[in-house]
Amino acid sequence: MAVDDLRMVSVLGSTGSIGVSTLDVIARHPDRFGVFALSANAAVETLLAQCLAFEPRYAVMMAADAAQALRQQLPAHSPTQVLWGQEGLIRAVTAPQVDTVMAAIVGAAGLPSALAAAEAGKTLLLANKESLVMGGQLLMQAVHRGGARLLPIDSEHNAIFQCLPVDEAGRPGRGGVSKVLLTASGGPFRTWSAAQMREATPDQACAHPNWSMGRKISVDSASLMNKGLEFIEACWMFDLGAQMIDVVVHPQSIIHSMVQYLDGSVLAQLGNPDMRTPIAYGLGWPQRLGSGVAPLDLVAAARLDFEAPDEGRFPCLRLAREAVQRGGTAMAVCNAANEVAVAAFLDEQIRFTDIPLVIERALESVDIVEPNTLAVVEAADARARQLAREAVGGLYPRHAPASRA
Ligand code: NAD
Ligand code: MG
Repeated sequence: MAVDDLRMVSVLGSTGSIGVSTLDVIARHPDRFGVFALSANAAVETLLAQCLAFEPRYAVMMAADAAQALRQQLPAHSPTQVLWGQEGLIRAVTAPQVDTVMAAIVGAAGLPSALAAAEAGKTLLLANKESLVMGGQLLMQAVHRGGARLLPIDSEHNAIFQCLPVDEAGRPGRGGVSKVLLTASGGPFRTWSAAQMREATPDQACAHPNWSMGRKISVDSASLMNKGLEFIEACWMFDLGAQMIDVVVHPQSIIHSMVQYLDGSVLAQLGNPDMRTPIAYGLGWPQRLGSGVAPLDLVAAARLDFEAPDEGRFPCLRLAREAVQRGGTAMAVCNAANEVAVAAFLDEQIRFTDIPLVIERALESVDIVEPNTLAVVEAADARARQLAREAVGGLYPRHAPASRA
């Protein structure tokens, strides 16, 4: 393939877990992909190393001083121009040379750039589930308006995408589908009592049994809020009513999700728990690419177990489901309050079991409105953060772990 035929990819959040895995897959296919832009919040050293290896046109830091630090360290002959802030991200995704955007920023901060990529009609590889949870209506409208192709990177949604029927335009259809079965590993506290979870430390919450991920999503996996967010994500991504989705706990994380059909068939996507598989699927779609992931050894895996989720010990799943029922900005509120609660837990200000209390407090206290514009969604997000911070303040230090109380 000539250089002109390379698919140019902007990788947002390139220094994170998904970003690094994306660059690993891209590096395996230098004849297919070029890197147009990379971005990070504040990790100057890591982004510098990535710029030297991939020579992107743009590197984006979120703060001006971090951008300045990166600029100073890049060699004089570097082809990379350093930008900063949301404006820099928007330039990095909307430039005409860009074919594909990997949205792998963590949290609500990823919404404006995902929206811009959708409006610009790019192929949008969506890892940043929070943007769809928070602004689902806006993002799906932007995808349709911009003529973008939205491909799910979250492993469950990628699995569902692979198992759904496809219409003539290559979009996922729903013909004959009776249920979507969203699998959950159950996280590190699957077998813990509520009393044990009350004493859980951030490191214990981040020690996921199957997946190696960033700290925010690791805590979400431990609380099952990750499955709650994915439930909302699936409703938007595949235009499904909540009654069409069941959550099934599958501790081995070999099956990444399933689709059940009217005739009794259930299609599943299986593989080792390594995000390079869904990333390679998104990058290569509709072709399959080598990803570096070892083939699945079913004999070594030996068992596939399933159980129902316990919403008594894991109330976050229920809260997410209730947010879908309330509709409007309730999902943005749920997401924002969760982000504040998770940050407070990682900072040892509140206990693990306080996370759902903070979210519930925010959801109880806000007015829910129609999420018509980005400004409305951002206002709901800001109000929810304020309420959640107040709730954290009310709990701290009474609920702080023994080491900090
Ligand atoms: P991570 O914490 O490892 O990386 C996050 C990236 O976003 C980093 O590059 C960081 O510099 C950047 N970032 C952080 N805050 C930012 C901000 N305010 N503005 C701009 N950039 C910012 O996270 P991750 O585990 O790679 O997850 C990224 C996204 O992918 C999340 O939405 C997560 O839910 C989703 N996801 C991750 C996995 C996984 O296996 N890690 C699986 C499925 C979905
Ligand atoms: Mg997932």
